[in-house]
Amino acid sequence: MENKDGEGGRLESSAERVCRRCKQTYHLYANSPSSCRFHPSFFVSRRHDDQQRYYELKPGDPPYAAKFYDCCGAEDPDAAGCKTDFHISYDD
Ligand SMILES: [Zn+2]
Ligand SMILES: [Zn+2]
Repeated sequence: MENKDGEGGRLESSAERVCRRCKQTYHLYANSPSSCRFHPSFFVSRRHDDQQRYYELKPGDPPYAAKFYDCCGAEDPDAAGCKTDFHISYDD
């Protein structure tokens, strides 16, 4: 009985990898210092610093009303990364 077809392509046998940082599939030979866009810091939920550039919290708002990336202040969790680097495979 031959039952090889169910496996599909194995990742190791090709040059495709999944980046553990941005979760995108990339090609080993197309990995450059600008391939991976990411945020070096975490998406946090807390009040902005004094300027309140990004959110105007009203009196009585809970402090966690502000959600943003700690690195660049982007408010959208899906915002494009503010830093670029090589993709990192799960093998690294
Ligand atoms: Zn950022
Ligand atoms: Zn990546």
